[in-house]
Amino acid sequence: MPDALGFIGLGNMGLPMARRLLQAGHAVTVYDIRAEATAALAAEGAKTAASPAEVAEASDVVFLSLPTPDLVRDVALGRDGVAQGGRVKIVIDLSTTGPRTAAAVAAELAKKDIVGFDAPVSGGVAGAIKGSLAVMAAGPRETFARVKAALEVFGRVFYIGERAGMGQSMKLINNLLSATALAATSEAAVLGAKAGLDPDVMVEVINAGSGRNSASLDKFPRNILPRTFDAGFTVGLINKDLKLCFEEAEALNVPLWIGTAVRQMWIYALGHGGGDKDFTTVIKHFEDWAGVTVAGKAAINHPPADDR
Ligand code: NAD
Repeated sequence: MPDALGFIGLGNMGLPMARRLLQAGHAVTVYDIRAEATAALAAEGAKTAASPAEVAEASDVVFLSLPTPDLVRDVALGRDGVAQGGRVKIVIDLSTTGPRTAAAVAAELAKKDIVGFDAPVSGGVAGAIKGSLAVMAAGPRETFARVKAALEVFGRVFYIGERAGMGQSMKLINNLLSATALAATSEAAVLGAKAGLDPDVMVEVINAGSGRNSASLDKFPRNILPRTFDAGFTVGLINKDLKLCFEEAEALNVPLWIGTAVRQMWIYALGHGGGDKDFTTVIKHFEDWAGVTVAGKAAINHPPADDR
């Protein structure tokens, strides 16, 4: 019999990912503290539960997609947590929570004969909708063999290693680069605009040349040039990821010289605008300092209602 699946945390990423599991024909029981999120999926065939423990009572494999490491610990191990459910055998954390949380949660779950497996993802909300995420799986090989097909519903799956937390290490490295690309490309594009370059042309040239990166290829054309600022990833979450990355670097005595400058920019964005802003709004700080706007022609001709 195929594994019954559970899914907890139906936010920007979790909702489209749980939806893909449903569309692939899996039985999925869902839970989120926001009733509107569970209702949306119930209308599409998901069963709903009233707590993480109830999800785990109905599911062999439970996925988590939650904002912070503390919430993952709480939802997995706390009162009414997943570990209290009688049926669950595997808990897969899709969130970005760092290797230490992954290892600690896996060790606690093991006491109840539950395998803690990490599978953080990259590729944003667009990737979650399309099923084109990079999935960084880590945990026992036999667990991987059992859950691989379900993970493939989310995108391209990479088996990173057997130790709990190795997928998380991989994800932190990826996001250090993603945060760097967005901050550095914003700074460079603002300089270009100040020098009189056309923003559309500038991004096209960068993408045909050696400067191209995840921000120039993706966030600039989709979220920044059109001034929609709707990548679906917040300033708060990228700060959380960088904090986790720096904790790892410190624990391993590895200096992050470039990363330090990048991180200061993101801390500035947190203090000036707040954690709920889409992370593509980081360019607005560079724009304010230089007194220019990096708007594409389409946005200049048809400005979106709220560009600030
Ligand atoms: P989000 O804030 O949009 O969604 C989190 C969801 O968790 C919300 O629906 C919230 O109601 C729910 N939640 C909070 N506390 C809960 C609890 N106690 N029990 C049940 N549900 C609870 O966050 P997101 O952008 O979907 O990100 C989720 C995770 O995925 C984060 O760790 C993030 O770093 C990671 N991630 C996000 C992106 C992205 O582009 N948004 C990309 C890759 C990875």
